[in-house]
Amino acid sequence: MRTLTLLGSTGSIGRQTLEVVDALGERLPFRVLALTAGSNADLLLKQARKHRPLMVALAEPSAAAPVASELCSLGVDVKTGPEGVLAAARLGADLVLNAIVGFAGLEATLAALAAGSTVALANKESLVAGGELVVRSLDAGKGPLVPVDSEPSAILQCLRDAAARSGLARVILTASGGPFRGLHGEALRRVTPAQALAHPTWRMGSKITVDSATLMNKGLELIELVWLFRLRPEQVRVVIHPESVVHSMVELVDGSVLAQLGVPDMRIPIQYALTYPERLPSPWPRYDPVARGPLTFFEPDLESFPCLRLACEAVRIGNTAPAALNAANEVAVEAFLKEQIPFTAIAGLVEETLRRHEPESASSLEAVRRADRWARQTARRLVERGTWR
Ligand code: NAD
Ligand code: MG
Repeated sequence: MRTLTLLGSTGSIGRQTLEVVDALGERLPFRVLALTAGSNADLLLKQARKHRPLMVALAEPSAAAPVASELCSLGVDVKTGPEGVLAAARLGADLVLNAIVGFAGLEATLAALAAGSTVALANKESLVAGGELVVRSLDAGKGPLVPVDSEPSAILQCLRDAAARSGLARVILTASGGPFRGLHGEALRRVTPAQALAHPTWRMGSKITVDSATLMNKGLELIELVWLFRLRPEQVRVVIHPESVVHSMVELVDGSVLAQLGVPDMRIPIQYALTYPERLPSPWPRYDPVARGPLTFFEPDLESFPCLRLACEAVRIGNTAPAALNAANEVAVEAFLKEQIPFTAIAGLVEETLRRHEPESASSLEAVRRADRWARQTARRLVERGTWR
């Protein structure tokens, strides 16, 4: 029986992962070693009652108090704080699925790899901020690292064939375009958090849903792909594909294009990460090309959605620029969700933070953390001063 540690088990990806584990059942049994969450202790307790992990961790220490005694009576070791989450990541499970949101996931990815686990990575921010560190660990023989996100999963699936890998010319990365496709100017400035959270094709956590609306999500994925598949940024072409059926494509040197398709349902790529490199039958919805209708593709509108352009700039600058971009974006998204800044200020805050950033080498965790801290402080100050106006 394979062992599994699930980081971020109470989130959108975390909950769907447990659904997939249940559906795989005896066909691919997993023993859950650890579950971790930010602060949702009630759901974590419910999951622990069912899956009986050895350990649970809550990143927010105060959240643990109401559930600690019941968890202890279940024989579960309860850890708290970021150190507690890292302890879970380090348990040496066969597979660590990292579904933490944001920069908080980077150290857990590194810890899991160092402990010899295979990492199934939903936390794209790990690769955006710490790509060099993660890749160094993989090059040292750790891993493998299997992407959970639908687009890198699609590309991995297209590149399973060694001839396709060696003949890769470029990647065509698809984006839904989010709920505000076609809007610009004042109409875009005035959109509300509630509108941003109503994604047309995917149901996800709030941070990635806002990232999808600004197209920053595609920018973060572009950076993720550069590290995962060792691409030059110019080898990634982003296209808007509102139906979210083609999860991405690869163009080979001879002009042949391979694509991976499926209904927009994260349980399919999550299951692939759990069964990788094998496949098992699943109960998840099927793609019917006639019922779904035409598939359409458009150029992204970089004028109205500059976050994608900013991410391209950051990856070209390299070093700690992507870490600074990511941190500024996390602060800006939070400020937008709290209605402290308008939607269009997200890109403004990221751009200004990036402009002020003095990139340094991103080859140590300390340097990456420093850039993250600096960019957060800078972006917060910009929010407080209303400099985005
Ligand atoms: P979410 O907000 O629904 O869940 C995040 C999880 O992380 C929760 O369990 C939360 O408790 C935990 N968490 C939050 N802050 C933490 C911290 N500081 N330390 C430790 N744990 C913390 O987010 P999500 O939509 O499940 O996304 C998770 C990750 O997966 C993100 O990186 C996202 O970009 C990526 N992803 C999500 C989807 C999706 O469909 N939801 C698709 C592709 C990639
Ligand atoms: Mg994606």
